[in-house]
Formats: sequence, C-alpha cells, structure tokens
Amino acid sequence: MAESPKMVHAPIVTYVSMLALLTLCPPFVILLWYTMVHADGSVVQTWNYLNQQGLQGFKDLWPTPTVIACKIIASFAAFEAFLQLFLPGKRVEGPISPMGNRPVYKANGMAAYAVTLVTYISLWWFGVFNPAIVYDHLGEIFSALIFGSFVFCILLYIKGHLAPSSADSGSSGNAIIDFYWGMELYPRIGKNFDIKVFTNCRFGMMSWAVLAVTYCIKQYEENGRVADSMLVNTILMLVYVTKFFWWEAGYWNTMDIAHDRAGFYICWDAWFGSIYLHFSWMYLVNHPVELGTPLALFILAAGLLCIYINYDCDRQRQEFRRTNGKCLIWGKAPSKIVASYKTDNGETKASLLLTSGWWGLARHFHYVPEILSSFFWTVPALFVHGLPYFYVVYLTILLVDRAKRDDDRCRSKYGKYWKLYCDKVPYRIVPGIY
Ligand code: NDP
Repeated sequence: MAESPKMVHAPIVTYVSMLALLTLCPPFVILLWYTMVHADGSVVQTWNYLNQQGLQGFKDLWPTPTVIACKIIASFAAFEAFLQLFLPGKRVEGPISPMGNRPVYKANGMAAYAVTLVTYISLWWFGVFNPAIVYDHLGEIFSALIFGSFVFCILLYIKGHLAPSSADSGSSGNAIIDFYWGMELYPRIGKNFDIKVFTNCRFGMMSWAVLAVTYCIKQYEENGRVADSMLVNTILMLVYVTKFFWWEAGYWNTMDIAHDRAGFYICWDAWFGSIYLHFSWMYLVNHPVELGTPLALFILAAGLLCIYINYDCDRQRQEFRRTNGKCLIWGKAPSKIVASYKTDNGETKASLLLTSGWWGLARHFHYVPEILSSFFWTVPALFVHGLPYFYVVYLTILLVDRAKRDDDRCRSKYGKYWKLYCDKVPYRIVPGIY
C-alpha cells in the first residue's frame, strides 16, 4: 500500500494538537452547549456550577445519547443518503487527484437541499413531526454524534486499510495519525456513494439549514412569534447554505475534498465546526432579542453583501479555470500565471493561477467575507455574552491555518510559479496587512 506523503513527517506539534483536539473537543462541545442552553449563555454561571459540583457535576450535565436522539440522527442520515444516491443530477468531474485519478460526481445538491427543506417544513406544518423535539434533544444529539463520529472514523480507518476505493490512499505507518488525518482521499461505498460528499455536504452543511429552521420553529412554539434577530440569523444562514449548494460542484475542487483525507479531522470540522456555529441561535431561542427594523435590515444587508462577495470570489476562480482563462474578470481579460507541476506518478501537468480580480487582492481574500458573514449572523445576539462569538473566533483560526496550509501545499506543488504569484500578490488574506 502506498505511503501517504502528507503524514509521514508530521512534526511533534501536529501530534500534540491532534491529541488535544481528540480529547478536549468532545467535552468542550458539551460544556458550550450546556452554557448556551442551560446557563443563559453565561460562562461564569457554568464555571460556578463546575466549581461547586466538581467532576461529578460535569458527568451529570453530559447528556446520554438516547434512543430518540439516535433515531433523529439515523432518519436524517438515511434520508440524505437516499437523496444523494437517487435524485437526478448532472455528471460532474472533479479535479485530477495526486495519483492522476479524476473522481466523478452527481451534482444533485441543490435538489437535495430543496427536497430536505420542503419535507422538513411540511412535516411540521401538517403536524407529522415537530422540529422543536430536535431542539429539546439537542444535547443528546450532540452526545450521540460525538460517540458516532468516533465509530464512523474507526470504520473509515478499517476501510482505508482493507478496501480502499482508489489508489489515492495510504498509511503513514502510525495508527493514530491514520485515524486523525484519514487514509483515503476519495472513499466511496460502491461506485457512486461518495462518503466525503455525504459527511461534509449532505449531512454537515444540510444540518446548518435544518437546525436554523428548527431554532426558528422552537422560538415560534415557545413565544407565538419569531423575533427579528432570529429572522435575520435564519435568513442569512439559509442564503449561505443555498449559495453553498448552488456552488456544491465547485466545493468538490477545494481543499476539503481534493486534498484533505477522510478522517477524524474532516469529520470534526464538518460536524462539530457546525455545532459551534449554532451557539448564537441556541442563545437566541431563549433570549428573543428585538433589534428594531433599521438595525435588523442593516445587519441583513451587510451579511448578504459578505455572502455575495465570498460567492463571487469562488465563482471567479472557477469560471477562470473552467474557461481556461478565456473569461472576463471585473470586465477585463484576466492576468494569470501558467504553472506547471508533476503529479505523484511523474506526469507533468499545468494549472492556471488567476492574479487579478479578488485573487489579485490577496491569495486567500475570500476568507475575509467568509469570516465577516459569520460575524453578521452572530451579531443579532448583540454583546451581552461573548460565547455566541465563539464560531467567529474558531473560523478565523481555522481559516488563517487553512491559508497557511494551502500556501505550503501550493508552494510545494508549483515551486517557482507559486513564488511568482506571491511576488505579484504578496498578501495572504487581508490586503496591506497579512
Ligand atoms: P479555495 O477555493 O481557496 O481553493 C484553494 C485552491 O485553489 C488551491 O489549493 C489551489 O488549488 C487553487 N488556487 C489557489 N490560488 C489560485 C489562483 N490564484 N487561481 C486559481 N486557483 C488557485 O479553497 P477553500 O476550500 O479554502 O475555500 C473554498 C470556499 O469554502 C471558500 O468560499 C471558503 O470561504 C469556504 N470555506 C468555508 C469554511 C467554513 O467552515 N465556513 C471552511 C473552509 C472554507 P490547485 O491545486 O487546483 O491549484
């Protein structure tokens, strides 16, 4: 079996951060959930509780995964898997992998998104299922997801060893790293069921929208109305997720899918990163902040603008690559670098690097509107507590790290051509600053 190049020489800091993430994150998620739902969003209140009750208090607040929580997760997962497999969609080819393979996908994300939302809201409207139940069992659901994600990643690990789906797989020789980073780039069940598309898009991203609707319904059921803060949050989230599924085939060209393997890291990012995202909603469910129309509209407009700019950055890059540079960027012919590189099996290929438009401002400028949009869908919770902003901080750290990882990867892939790009576009994320 091939060795996995990115894992073999992992520095000690990688091991330390990896073990910290594996062991500290699950209890951390539970503590944050407890604070948002049961301690009014107040870290001090949670701290006092733990101080008084000690370890036993922590054990008591950890929700046990219940049958109903497992049923909710299993029904959602099965429904999404069914839609992924059976809804019609255009055939789309992904980028060439390091081993020279080209994965093929069915682009039916937008259809799956529409069917999911219509089904979920209809179930509530016609009294078949009340989404407020999901909110009431949220702690148990998170707890079940924590245990479930470990089991799922162990299965991925075993599959990577025994039945890899393609030559884009391999072991570092270290079981913990294989579990953490993953072994396969494109694991599939059969020929058509892509596991990463399922975890990241159809389970992960889809849950962002489904949970946003859930919080709205819960607040409506509790108060007989939905506060403007909750409406702004939810509209921004639904627009963001709509943008994501509109562009899903483009996502299959990004680092998550084309470079990061399927392991604990990516599952954690896809499932639990999204839990952090929901803290502002959890807070708003029990604290229906009224912003007033002018402020609500201002936040909504600013959030929509950021989501649009982020979308346009991704669109520019993809349009540029799709047309082989024969497109207009901000009304002009694009400026570009033709960068050649070698695949792992020795073939020479070339990629185009766009050096104008958004991609001429900074090498990862698109992370700026991404971070700002997360700020705008958090700010309706106002500034009474800092914890709803946890996701903004988490995302900033994640994207700064991601920009560095991507730069390192591109530098080793394109060598002197990447240096040319860096000379032409010297800033990594924020023009003039970083
Ligand atoms: P990018 O879209 O930034 O893609 C990075 C890849 O694009 C590089 O590896 C390189 O790949 C290629 N590339 C780099 N520079 C250029 C250039 N100048 N011209 C053309 N191609 C270039 O990947 P991300 O996955 O980081 O971001 C995708 C989207 O996902 C963004 O909108 C981002 O904001 C969002 N995102 C959201 C997160 C969240 O949790 N909310 C987390 C991460 C991302 P190649 O090898 O093909 O040359």
